Order: sequence, then structure tokens, then C-alpha cells
Amino acid sequence: METLEKNHLTNTLGSCFRQEGNITKFGWVVLAMLIAEDLTARLISTQARPEFGLLATQLLIWVAFILAGVLKIKLSPTKNEAESLIYRVAKYLEIAIMAIFLSMMYHGFIFYFVVLLPISSIILSRGFKESVPFILLSWLTQALSQFIVLNAFSRVNQQGVFSHDLMLPIAITAQYLLFTCYGYILGRVQREYVRSQEENQILIDRLGDKYVQLEQAKKEIQSHYEKIIQTNEQLEEANNKLTASLAEFYTLQQISQAISSIFDMNELLKFVNDVIIGVMGVSHSTIALCHGPQNHLKVQVSSIFDKKELAIVSDYINSDVLKPAVKDGHSMIDNQVDPDEYPFTRGRKIQSLICVPLIAKGNVLGIVLIEHSLPNAFHNDNVRLLEIIAQQVSIAIENARLHQQMHDLATLDGLTGAYNRLYFQDNLQIEFKKAQEGNYDLSILMFDIDHFKRINDTHGHLFGDLVLKSIAAFIKKKLRKEDIFARYGGEEFVILMPHTTLEQVVEKAEDIRTGVSAMIISDRVISASVTISIGVSSFPLTADSQMNLVKSADDALYEAKRQGRNRVCVAHKKTGSMEEDTAG
Ligand code: GH3
Ligand code: MG
Ligand code: MG
Repeated sequence: METLEKNHLTNTLGSCFRQEGNITKFGWVVLAMLIAEDLTARLISTQARPEFGLLATQLLIWVAFILAGVLKIKLSPTKNEAESLIYRVAKYLEIAIMAIFLSMMYHGFIFYFVVLLPISSIILSRGFKESVPFILLSWLTQALSQFIVLNAFSRVNQQGVFSHDLMLPIAITAQYLLFTCYGYILGRVQREYVRSQEENQILIDRLGDKYVQLEQAKKEIQSHYEKIIQTNEQLEEANNKLTASLAEFYTLQQISQAISSIFDMNELLKFVNDVIIGVMGVSHSTIALCHGPQNHLKVQVSSIFDKKELAIVSDYINSDVLKPAVKDGHSMIDNQVDPDEYPFTRGRKIQSLICVPLIAKGNVLGIVLIEHSLPNAFHNDNVRLLEIIAQQVSIAIENARLHQQMHDLATLDGLTGAYNRLYFQDNLQIEFKKAQEGNYDLSILMFDIDHFKRINDTHGHLFGDLVLKSIAAFIKKKLRKEDIFARYGGEEFVILMPHTTLEQVVEKAEDIRTGVSAMIISDRVISASVTISIGVSSFPLTADSQMNLVKSADDALYEAKRQGRNRVCVAHKKTGSMEEDTAG
């Protein structure tokens, strides 16, 4: 703070010195004008020729005055002691020159005030106290020089103001006393000016400090504001992530709920497909499952409504481009779909797609394919979510497959693929009840291979198995969805046919009998043909109970055997006895 105030002082003094410089220069002009005035006054008053010696002396004095002024200006403001001394000497010289010059002037004494110029400049730059020695010097020089000039050149005062020699120094002294008063007042004014300048400067500096502080505070506020904005952005980002996570969580919860409540695989896949469309906002979602030993993809469910488009997808879904997903189990993402690369997108305006495999126990079960009509529609987060969904769906598919396997094991005969006896018994009960309540015909057809022992004995057990499998496969093709075909035991089979009259079952039995007898069963080494004997019965025409239905058919079969085989026998109408229908 102290240094700062010193600087203010220097600045203020600097401005004073600039003022002093201007006054000095003004003094040069005044002195030149005085020379001109002196010359004119002498020429007019004395009407004599100009005294060139005097003029030359005056010009020399003028030059000396200028030099002293230049020296003084150059050294203001003074920086060190030596310069300060030179300044002082220059100032003394200036004043002495001015005093000497004035003494030489024709109208010398009336221009005493001119001395005021350099002294005024001292007062302005250094204050009144500083100027006192200069005033004294000026007074002494002036008084002496006037006295000397008057006496030495025996020049009588032209105006005759001073009749006595002593009057001149007294007048000069009086005038200098007046100068001193003037100087004192000027000094006071200068001091006040300097003080107010300093105060102003201090105020300006304080304001400057305040301004700097304000600027700093502004910067701090700005930086706080930026930090708040940054924090806000981070919060927003975290919020978005949280929202996305919640949406994912909700989706997965929905899917797992569906898996535990929807047992029909197709219905479940349809639900999952709908959830994917809802969550991802995609144009289409398709689930295709692998079939057969070649793992051939078959579209299972799809959101594609347009039949033509769906046909394109179904036809080309097995294209090589999806191999990484289907063969290697890798997810695929493409945000710039080229229809030449993906045949199933041709003409369908698809620009982005994700294909995620359905994997269970390391085996690819199928794929989930989502498509978008916009380019760059997907990012890795979508792949990640779809992979999690696919994981859950795969587990559901695998569970369903296992369930199906268990069901098949429990209900199907391993060799022929026909239902087993247990399954038949359970369903006979259900179907009989339904027929009874629905008041419709329920027929039964029971057959046994003729001389099967012989086949086994002649061609071996394995060929016997082939015969069983071939006959079962042949018969399955002949039946409707609602017919229940079961292996009753050994080489004895039974077919339960709802909504079938006795007449219709006899017709069917004949068809089957002739069909089987025409079959040539071959394992490339052996070729053989077999016949079957069939017994049929029907509710309510030939049997009135579930037990009777089986028994009467069995009896009819026995009768067929008895009558010579390869024939169909029909149970007797509610008497329990049989009648032959056809003979082979
Ligand atoms: P019939 O015309 O009187 O029916 O004469 P059949 O030789 O067929 O006599 P039967 O029905 O008593 O013979 C059944 C034979 O079928 C006995 C058994 O070895 C054979 N068989 C039963 N189950 C199987 C099987 O799963 N595989 C094979 N290869 N043979 C079987
Ligand atoms: Mg037999
Ligand atoms: Mg038998």
C-alpha cells in the first residue's frame, strides 16, 4: 500500500513537471518577445541606431536561457541526487539569466514579474518552501544587477520614477515581497491540488482493487456455475441410465413372468416378440427356431404383417450372412444394412438390424432378429438387452423341449412312436366320457400282426422291429389328428377313433388291412410282406361301456385270427358275439 501511494505521488509530481515544462517553453517565447519589445522600445525612445552588441548579448542570453530550460526539462522528474543537483543549477541559471536580462532591458523594472515564470514553475512542481531560495537569489541578483547596470552604464531611469539610487533596491524588494505572497498562495493552491490528485488516485486505485476483486468473484461464480452445469449433466446422465435400467428390469421381469405362466411355446414366443417391439421400438421382430439335423431356421413368430415380406424373410432367413449367429452363436449388429448382403431384407426398406442367437447348453436353438427402417438405429446397449432376453427365452425353449421329451417318454412307445398302453387307457376313459356326454360314436380298431413269431424267427428280431416301425409309420399317415394310435402290447396295436361310426371304422380297418398287406418291408437285404388281423367295435352300437369297447374289439380280433387271419371282424351288436366282415 505504501509503495502504491509513493507511485501516486510520483505520478502527480510527473504531471506537475509536465506543467513546469510547458511554463519553461512559454518562458522562451516570452523572453523572445521581450527582446523584440526592448529593441523596439530603444529604437522608438532614443531614435538611435540599434545597438547590435546589446542585441547579440540578449540573443546569447536567450540561447543560454533555452539551454538551461532544456537541461531542466530533461532532468524532471529527478531520479537521483546528481541529477537533482544539475536540475537545481539549471533552475538557478534560468532565474539568474532572466534577472540579468530584465536588468539590461530598456523598460527593465516593469518586467520584474517575468521572473515569476520560472519561480512559479518551481512552486508548481516542488511547493512554496522549495522556491524560497530561488526567490531570494532572484531578488539579490535583480537588485544587484539593477544597481550595477544603473551605476556602471550611468543610465538614468527614463521614466524618472526613481530619483534616488536607493529607491530602486527598495522598490525591487517590495515587489519581491509581493512575489513571495503570491508564491505562498500559489504553493497552497498547488499543495491542495496535489493532495486532491493523490486522494483521487487513491480512490481510483481502491476502485481498481474493487474491480479486480469483482472480476475474481465473477470468475469464481462462473466456475461454480460451470461446475453446477457439469454436475447437472452427470445427474441427468445417471438418471437416464437408471431409467433405462428400470425399463430393462421391468422388461425382464415381464418375460420371466410370462415364462412361468405361459406354457404354450408359440404363445410365449409371441408374447416375447411383442415385448421386444414395445421396449426397443423396432419396426419388426422375428424369432426363428432351428429344426432338423441341419439346424435349418424356421420362422416361429414375427411381427411382420405383410405376407409378401414375411415370405421373403422365411425364404431367406437361412442365408449365409447370419452364420455367425446361427453357427458360432455370436450376436450381430449392422446399422448400415446393404440389401445385397442380407437377402431377407431385399425390397423391405430395412436399414439397421440386430441378430442374437438363442443358446442353451452351448447349442444354438434359433435366433431373435430385430429390424429397423432407419439407419444407425441400434447401439450396443440394445444388443446387450436383447442378449439377456434371448438368454431367458432360450432357457424357456430348452425347458419346453425337455418337458416335451419327458412327456414323450411317458406317453410314447420308443420303438414305433405310437402312444403306449398307459396313455391309451387314460385317454380311452376321457374319450368315452366325452362320447357319452356328447352323444356321438366312438369306435375302436384292434389289430395283431399275423404269424409275427415266424418273421422274428426267419429274419431276426431287428427285422421284426423294422416291421413294427414300418407298419406304425404307415398307419400314422392314415389317421386324423384326433385319432389315438397306441401300441397295446407286443405286436398288437389299437386305434381309438372319436366321431366315427361302426361303418366308418370297418371301412378304415379294411383300408388299413389292405394297405399293410400290400407293403413290402425291406432293409436292403431282406424284403418281406406281412398281414394283419383286425377286430373293430363301436360305441354305442356294439359296446355300451369303455371296458366292453376294448373287450369286444379284442374278441373280434380273436375271431379274425380264428377265421384264418388277414381279415377284419366286427363285434356283435351288444351281444358280445362277433361277425366276420371281410375275408382276405
Ligand atoms: P398270430 O398270427 O397268432 O398272432 O401268430 P404270432 O406268431 O404273431 O403269435 P403271437 O402273437 O403270440 O406272437 C407274438 C410274437 O411277437 C412273440 C414275440 O417274440 C414277438 N414280439 C413281441 N414284441 C416284439 C418286439 O418288440 N419286437 C420283435 N421283433 N418281436 C416282438
Ligand atoms: Mg401275432
Ligand atoms: Mg400277438
